[in-house]
Amino acid sequence: MSTPELLHNHLGGQWIAGRGASTALFDPVLGTELVRVDATGLDLSAGLAFAREHAGPALRALGYAQRAALLAAAVKVLQANRDTYYEIATANSGTVKNDSAVDIDGGIFTLGHYARLGESLGDRRHLLDGEATRLGKDPLFQSQHVLSPARGVALFINAFNFPSWGLWEKAAPALLSGVPVVVKPGTSTAWLTQRMVQDVVNAGIFPPGSLSVVCGSSAGLLDALTPFDLVSFTGSADTAELIRSHPAVARRSVRCNIEADSVNSALLLPGESAGSEAFELLAKEVAREMTVKSGQKCTAIRRIFVPQEHYEAAAQAISARLARTTVGNPRNESVRMGALVSRAQFDTVQAGLARLQQLGQTLHDGASHALVDADPAVACCLGPTLLGSRDAEVDVFHDTEVFGPVATLLPYRDLNHALALVRRGEGSLVASVYGSDEQTLQAAALELADSHGRVHVISPEVGSLHTGHGNVMPQSLHGGPGRAGGGEELGGLRALGFYHRRSALQASTSMLQGL
Ligand code: NAP
Repeated sequence: MSTPELLHNHLGGQWIAGRGASTALFDPVLGTELVRVDATGLDLSAGLAFAREHAGPALRALGYAQRAALLAAAVKVLQANRDTYYEIATANSGTVKNDSAVDIDGGIFTLGHYARLGESLGDRRHLLDGEATRLGKDPLFQSQHVLSPARGVALFINAFNFPSWGLWEKAAPALLSGVPVVVKPGTSTAWLTQRMVQDVVNAGIFPPGSLSVVCGSSAGLLDALTPFDLVSFTGSADTAELIRSHPAVARRSVRCNIEADSVNSALLLPGESAGSEAFELLAKEVAREMTVKSGQKCTAIRRIFVPQEHYEAAAQAISARLARTTVGNPRNESVRMGALVSRAQFDTVQAGLARLQQLGQTLHDGASHALVDADPAVACCLGPTLLGSRDAEVDVFHDTEVFGPVATLLPYRDLNHALALVRRGEGSLVASVYGSDEQTLQAAALELADSHGRVHVISPEVGSLHTGHGNVMPQSLHGGPGRAGGGEELGGLRALGFYHRRSALQASTSMLQGL
């Protein structure tokens, strides 16, 4: 048997192999070893300095539209290699084709979206923030806020669930802003990130050092950050706490964006009957959200709120849809839901599920799904499980994110009760609201807006048009307050704000007009 390939890191404009013991990446369905990663022995400080001192100035010498053209060229390279990315995703993430597409094509689409947005910004080298405002009685001396590209490096520490999208949704606005990128993917699925970076780097599109990848441990990466650098973290709340308290952030004021975990909700509004269009749309979306990527989406629906009189009907409608989900080897065409990404993830999900099951009823048991083409002793596959509790006040359902195909159905008395229950998530990435009365939909959406990065409002007329509860579109904000980390990503050109520094220029009106 041949030795699995050791993936090289790209840092300081060079491809470098780690010099440590290396970590194996596995196929979560077949259990076979695929490749190895290792970041031991890299000179991280020198690598980041190279990006800061060489790639940064080279990127910033270009205007937004020129950098947008580089993004568009990267899109072409990625599109040309899509088949390889799908093969890697099947092998390393255990995803079916449709789920791989969410990550791979979602990432490429987001990059393309920023290429188009960047083109519209033209050749300028900085952005204006608002209008000039006079500072005194005389209109000849005014204040104009400007946004200048940050002169540092953007470090991305990413989660395992979106090795492609997680890279490009961050790299697109960073590179468009003129800020070089270093990505540290979640180790278990790092292969796809590494291959995409390799393809784009080898195509020679960006100035050397613009795009780097470090696969394996993140040890030392935060220590190498200096005051004008940025760190964008996606992952669990526990790791987020470590990042926030690291001296780079706490003492050196490295700007930090956190996308953490979230106990997202779906809410059927009062007044909708069981079997109504809104009811069916909720049931369909819940089943989809629970099963896409085996529920390993930070935006997936975890809590479902329905009027108490519809609890039974909702349990039946969602369970009936889940029962039709075939689970197993993603290479088999009949399979709709593949695996969790690793044995560790499988064990964590089982433990979380057991915790919820102690206090909840199992309405649809994932264990009833026989695996297709997969050995249950080896494959990290788990059928979708719907839990429920007639007592919606139990804390564990509101504070436990089981990062797999698991959600809990909870009944409410009236709208105020429902909104209070949704808010028990203490800040989430997304809530979806289902109903047919526009005024109630509007009122509920606005009530939930302050505690959610996104509110997805579904009425029958958008039933077949909407983009999905959990699908993150580059036009809309991604992030959420409180427990969700407090971060903000995407939202069209808003995303560029993180990679720019705001400054007030106070000067003569004529000088400001020339900016
Ligand atoms: P995680 O264990 O927190 O890991 C996230 C990243 O941090 C990985 O790259 C990990 O590296 C790295 N890391 C681990 N310990 C670290 C440390 N001490 N210092 C610096 N970096 C460290 O999270 P995960 O299990 O990969 O991801 C699942 C979680 O991410 C879920 O809770 C999910 O909700 C959340 N998530 C949120 C979003 C969002 O946008 N809000 C999106 C996706 C996922 P290793 O892989 O090498 O350990």
